[in-house]
Amino acid sequence: MNKRELRKLPAPKVTKKIQDLAEAVRNKRTREYIISVFRTEVEGADTLVLDVFDDKAAPFMRAFFQEDDYITLNMQSKKTSWKTGALDSILEYRWMYPVKSHVHMATKKDRKLLYDWVDEYCRNHKVKTHYTFNDPEDIIDKYQEDIKHRRLMIKAQRKRDWLDNRMSFFKELPEGFEPWIDEIAMYNHNYIFYDKKKGYAYCTRCQNDFKLHKDGELQMKKCGWVSYGPQGIKHNKDAVCPFCMSKDIGVKTVAKSIGYSRQQLVEAQWAIVIQPTEIEEKSAVMVRYICCTKDYRESFVDPKLGYYEMYRSIHFEDHCENYEWGWDIHFHKDDWIPERQKGWYWSPSKFQAPVDGVIPYDISDEVLKGSWLQYSCCERFAKAYLELHRDKNSLGPWFFDQWFNFYRDHKSIEKFIKIGWDKMAVEIVDGREEDSPYLRTEIKNLLNEEGRTVAEVIGVSREQFLMIRNASDNPIWRDVEILRYANQQEIPVSEKEYRELRYIHDNGRSKLYQEYIDWKDCTTLHKLKKYTDSLPNNAKPGDYFEYLEWTKELGYDMRNEFNLYPKDFIKKHNERSKEYMKQKNKAQREAAKEFNRLLRKYRQDTKDVEALNMNIDGLFIRLPESLKELSIEGENLHHCVGTYREKVMNGETTIFFIRKISAPNKSYYTLEWKDSRVVQCRGMKNCDMTPQVKAFVEMFKEKMVEYEKSLMKVRRAG
Ligand SMILES: [Zn+2]
Repeated sequence: MNKRELRKLPAPKVTKKIQDLAEAVRNKRTREYIISVFRTEVEGADTLVLDVFDDKAAPFMRAFFQEDDYITLNMQSKKTSWKTGALDSILEYRWMYPVKSHVHMATKKDRKLLYDWVDEYCRNHKVKTHYTFNDPEDIIDKYQEDIKHRRLMIKAQRKRDWLDNRMSFFKELPEGFEPWIDEIAMYNHNYIFYDKKKGYAYCTRCQNDFKLHKDGELQMKKCGWVSYGPQGIKHNKDAVCPFCMSKDIGVKTVAKSIGYSRQQLVEAQWAIVIQPTEIEEKSAVMVRYICCTKDYRESFVDPKLGYYEMYRSIHFEDHCENYEWGWDIHFHKDDWIPERQKGWYWSPSKFQAPVDGVIPYDISDEVLKGSWLQYSCCERFAKAYLELHRDKNSLGPWFFDQWFNFYRDHKSIEKFIKIGWDKMAVEIVDGREEDSPYLRTEIKNLLNEEGRTVAEVIGVSREQFLMIRNASDNPIWRDVEILRYANQQEIPVSEKEYRELRYIHDNGRSKLYQEYIDWKDCTTLHKLKKYTDSLPNNAKPGDYFEYLEWTKELGYDMRNEFNLYPKDFIKKHNERSKEYMKQKNKAQREAAKEFNRLLRKYRQDTKDVEALNMNIDGLFIRLPESLKELSIEGENLHHCVGTYREKVMNGETTIFFIRKISAPNKSYYTLEWKDSRVVQCRGMKNCDMTPQVKAFVEMFKEKMVEYEKSLMKVRRAG
């Protein structure tokens, strides 16, 4: 509608009749409206203009009705303001005073104009007219409801066209698909139908008839017999076909008595077909989920094969779109629609969703050639995945979607697969399980995606990469972790040492190899290994490293072999433990004193400083620059802050880094701030704070609380 032209129409006229009527209907309880009408043409379009007056006879709204649309102009404000809503919501009469009409037509002529116009509209658009109602509100509604519906349908049609267009880019299913269903997809769905009375049995896979003996043996001339023991062959129990068994080992077959009902005997197996195409010059790959069925209900000798498609995912290089075959509510038919959000309660049957996994039709590199996924190695990865999860004999239902979604953000993964590091590839995708059930190293966050070589991606030198490669054909992430740790500690590890470190068992303590690397600096790895191997049975390497730690903290010379390798370990361990505890109590008392002294001093020094600008005694605090920095912080300090990414991303918590000004890029302490308090502040390997850091954190807390309070004040004032 041309608003400018609509505004050119003459202003509403307040007639004597309208004034009288306003006075007559005016009351204290309800709002009343009076409407006068005229019909005109605007740019050749038949237009009905409704002037709405309030109960003081002042112009209130002006509504324009046309064949295709309506719009309302607010007459109260000087500034032009248009409203697109229907009159009932603009005047708020329907829900406020639902019983009696509060809209009054100014004259009989106005009433007739309105009724005739809507009547014409209804006839033109084949909208059913009901003359049972006689209220102008209802007449207006009749028209506006239909326009609303038409608007909705135009939108829906646009959406439908867009969806149809998306789907039209992809080809039909490949020619070989139908024969493939019986040969491959349904390969593991087989039955032996039997009839004990007639002594007859039939295998649906090899389609051979058998003689079923009374003692439970299946026999055929070609290949001997299979015995089922004293109970014989049993309905719904696993059975073995003597013919198929000799061909394929491990084929599963279920026995079915011919006399029983076959009402439920429809087998389903989900398959996927991957098809690349180009949509608007962008490379796209569709994963199609097809449910293949084998129906034995009518005949077990000649089962009916069928298939239907239920899900489609279209993978672009920058995003993924998911669709399902479902009910289009606007056009009342089944069609492709955006995938509906499935609730946790959704437990679909095997005919609705691929709950038991999928069988891919063709995922060779040839299929994806030329698409953005051509180097995604999906076939190789699927094989590696199956091999490493031997307990599962099929891939998870959405495996390929998950793989493509992963590959989109982590293209470096193809480098691992290409050099045959399958185990690591799977670890990278799944994350590495740590000792504690809650800990999982998100390896993918530690990788350098920009790296050109695998060495650069995993963050080791070329020489170290070769060390890993020489030590194992198919290494795991731990093999990399050893070298990354050594690099962080700046302790060189030779190839010989590396091989020894790889074979150090964790022995109930996670990452024991780190201790060996740490202490190798004072002695040699070989000697450490020799000593820990010769420890008495009731001592573990972990106890030994504990002993070393105490000895060092008590100030002993750690290059002295007498301290490093005590003769009677158990005795020395106990002695040192007591000595250490005594020292620690004393140290704690001193630390408390020191903390109080520093806090007093800091408070004085930072009177006018804000929390994030604090810069005291060589310490400062800052926010992480990226989520990736969180993972790296966690790895550097060997604590779990890396796993906080999601919480930080959702704003559930805030992480700060405390740094030394002298080494601003080196991880020192990590602080978690939540609900106006310091939840935790951890340094290397979860160690506690030094008195200095503790005082710094105390100051930070005071400043932050002050700051948050001032924010609240501002908000309230605003
Ligand atoms: Zn058979």
